[in-house]
Amino acid sequence: MTTNHAPDDKPQATTQEPVIITRSDHPISRKKIAQNAVKILYRLKNRGFTAYLAGGAVRDMLLGDTPADFDIVTDATPKQIKRLFRNSRIIGRRFRLVHIFFHDRSNSIPQIYEIATFRRPFTQEQDDAERIKDEPELANNLFGTPKEDASRRDFTVNALFYNIADFSVIDHVYGLNDLKNRIIRIIGDPNTRFAEDPVRILRALEFACRLKFTIEEETVKGLKAQAEALSDVPPSRLREELKGLYTKKATSGLLELGNHYQINQHWLPLEIAASCLDSIPIIKQIENFFPTTDNSKELEKMVVAALIMPNIIEKFPLHDNLRLGLVREFVEESLKPINQRFNLPRFQRHAIKDIFTLLYRLSRGDKRVNKLVSRDHFFSALFLYATINHQAPSKPDHFSFWQRQCDSLNRNPQAQGLDYSRLFLED
Ligand code: ATP
Ligand code: MG
Repeated sequence: MTTNHAPDDKPQATTQEPVIITRSDHPISRKKIAQNAVKILYRLKNRGFTAYLAGGAVRDMLLGDTPADFDIVTDATPKQIKRLFRNSRIIGRRFRLVHIFFHDRSNSIPQIYEIATFRRPFTQEQDDAERIKDEPELANNLFGTPKEDASRRDFTVNALFYNIADFSVIDHVYGLNDLKNRIIRIIGDPNTRFAEDPVRILRALEFACRLKFTIEEETVKGLKAQAEALSDVPPSRLREELKGLYTKKATSGLLELGNHYQINQHWLPLEIAASCLDSIPIIKQIENFFPTTDNSKELEKMVVAALIMPNIIEKFPLHDNLRLGLVREFVEESLKPINQRFNLPRFQRHAIKDIFTLLYRLSRGDKRVNKLVSRDHFFSALFLYATINHQAPSKPDHFSFWQRQCDSLNRNPQAQGLDYSRLFLED
């Protein structure tokens, strides 16, 4: 990839003309873009609107990776977009987006594409939020130019546009330079941007570990300085952001980097932040073993169980012959601070209590295969049992018993086609 702007470590975001990379100088081809996204882009363009691919899709394709989703931005307003696509719905109150639905015959779950109108920066948007509640027509004032839209995004590498009109890549923020140098750099003043939305702190760590990029120095200073603000992020927002992480195998990396920068105590409950290094090997195993597409609820249950596990088994050693009611009570207690931070729904808390009950049964040598396997969440408990014991210096005799059961257990529909015997094998 060649870039035609001066190499510069201190980008002056948004003050100059954008850098434009023509088709022959970048690797993004329409074949790599989902067909439905191409259809949307062309329909907008053919009706006279500007239509860009934005965000992670452009970043990932420039890196030669397959994007997780395709976000589209345009100068068409939500109402104009809605008129162009019958299969669409306007969503959001403060900033209105359009979701376009595509139904694939082979799959009952519709594919959703998110189309946004170019937006101006966030601070003014926040100031306006209250007024817009009373005067919805003011929402139009939130729309901005492509340049403003780029500058309100989080990191330079996330603010690149792909223009369907001429297949060029448009860079308003020197993102291409950072992409080439594998750098995560916040757009604008780090303190202001992290204070505006502290979730960006976690996103910086997430992208650094997912992409194996380095976080630029001023960005690191800013995220450390603003890390306390993470404790003010509403629990439901934090939970949504974390669910995204589980499916991208980035939780263990986030915990490691958070530990490195000493910020985990600002987004995790203190007791979990203190013990989370012990949970990382189990979370890595979760990331290795479970398929990570579209099952964020399953992964959430497992990751949260792994996060509270060090404290649970420290208090109640696994092979102790204690009353399981006590374990359930302690699990419930341990989930309270997590619940306060991430709003964990009741069904997840219930599932996690069941997993621990089964884990203790297995660890005490309960071998009533049919009875145990018929319980909800047995396979989650078996996963934890195998993972913990696999790492232990000496294995209990029931370990080889469950290892021998794996051939038949793997055929159980609840195993969802996963090979549990792998968890029992020596490396
Ligand atoms: P991926 O989808 O692969 O996780 P992404 O970069 O597309 O990565 P999304 O969460 O899908 O991330 O967000 C899409 C784009 O929206 C981002 O690339 C970024 O430009 C912008 N964005 C998302 N969250 C924020 C935020 N908190 N602050 C500013 N911009 C954001
Ligand atoms: Mg995305």
